Amino acid sequence: MTGKKNFVIVGAGLAGASAAKELRDQGFEGTIQLIGKEPHAPYIRPPLSKGYLQGSEGLDAVYVHPQDWYDEHNIDVHTGATVVGVDTAEHTVALSGGETLRYDKLLLTTGADSRQPTIDGAGLSGVHTLRTLDDSNAVRDKLADGGRSVVLIGAGWIGMEVAATAKSLGNKVTILDRNAVPLAGAIGDELGTFFAEKHRSHGVTVRSSVIVDRIIGANGQLSGVVLDSGEEIPADLVMVGIGAVPNTSLAHAAGLAVDNGILVDSALNTSAPNVFAAGDVANELHPVIGMRLRTEHWANALNQGAAAARSMLGQAESFDDIPYFYTDQFDIGMEFSGYGPLMKDARIAYRGERDSGEFVAFWLKDSVVVAGMNVNVWDVNDQVQRLIREKTVVDEARLTDSAVALADV
Ligand SMILES: Cc1cc2nc3c(=O)[nH]c(=O)nc-3n(C[C@H](O)[C@H](O)[C@H](O)COP(=O)(O)OP(=O)(O)OC[C@H]3O[C@@H](n4cnc5c(N)ncnc54)[C@H](O)[C@@H]3O)c2cc1C
Repeated sequence: MTGKKNFVIVGAGLAGASAAKELRDQGFEGTIQLIGKEPHAPYIRPPLSKGYLQGSEGLDAVYVHPQDWYDEHNIDVHTGATVVGVDTAEHTVALSGGETLRYDKLLLTTGADSRQPTIDGAGLSGVHTLRTLDDSNAVRDKLADGGRSVVLIGAGWIGMEVAATAKSLGNKVTILDRNAVPLAGAIGDELGTFFAEKHRSHGVTVRSSVIVDRIIGANGQLSGVVLDSGEEIPADLVMVGIGAVPNTSLAHAAGLAVDNGILVDSALNTSAPNVFAAGDVANELHPVIGMRLRTEHWANALNQGAAAARSMLGQAESFDDIPYFYTDQFDIGMEFSGYGPLMKDARIAYRGERDSGEFVAFWLKDSVVVAGMNVNVWDVNDQVQRLIREKTVVDEARLTDSAVALADV
């Protein structure tokens, strides 16, 4: 593409920053305006519940690019700027300050926000959710010295990671979850139980199948969490991790097709011409499995943002990455790749003993690998992804035999 085109990116998170980089890497010479409502330059979120929250990592671990990178690449970053309207007919976006920007191509990378608790007491001081750098800063110091009673409501990835971080800093930690097994929705009962047992072995109280009725306190300050059984669990810090909600209101108001995210095709086109979406907010029709996937993971934001940039430049794009995720909790480092919708009814086969804490789990459907998760085993995820991508029937004896290189399966 030649000439001074104006590309606008709404949402200065990882997907937006990744798109901006890819546009320049591909030689785009027009204007790039990256607009984000947070007061910070683009940053990544995984450290916010892990190393940054723990204090072992600083701000340098969270920023996507160094501060001067944006100037060097002539990218206009508008921080603290909220886009309040998109006019697809006029090709403009409106900022909350009254400014209007014209675009030739528009990318929406508005991400997701924490689902907010609605139970009584959710507004008390000491009750938190975790999505932003500011959210992480709000609890970082409180956890640092240990000795607090920390209650996590919700045993998803963020709840489990914050529990591990809080416990390793010497706090008393209780996880409350309405489901029978933590993380079961993502990785099933067997492996969810593995994570729950790891937490218990480190002294975390994991309580499943419990319903939180309300949060209580006095003078605006929380004192505990009450279950529907009437039982009261003392707390001086509550973290609610009950999922994330995609930020679709802007797209919806602009008349774009929205259904659990902004609907995009595999080239990341929305229903409106010249408007694209990527990252947590995008619900893509995945070209390999033919189903819609809205993936709330770091790697998706990184790679889908770049793919959207290529699409904006008119390159043929079909974003077919296999969803990938990682987590660190206590002494567990884990990578997961796979298609969530295909894991239903799949059987799990192990390479290595689950109880040893070092293994690769494969989800098999009709002897075809649809997902895989390596725990404290490294440099295998490329092979896991290869097996998923090839979709061939595997020899299960060889797959589960650690003496056979995965490359030879
Ligand atoms: C605590 C935490 C830990 C995580 N850990 C992991 C992990 O270990 N592994 C992993 O794979 N993934 C992890 N994730 C998920 C990963 O961080 C997300 O998938 C990723 O941040 C998505 O990037 P994004 O750019 O699509 O959206 P976001 O990061 O949500 O960025 C979107 C940005 O757009 C801005 N915005 C929204 N609306 C507007 C508007 N109207 N105007 C201007 N700006 C707007 C938002 O303020 C936000 O800054 C974690 C997430 C959290 C919160």
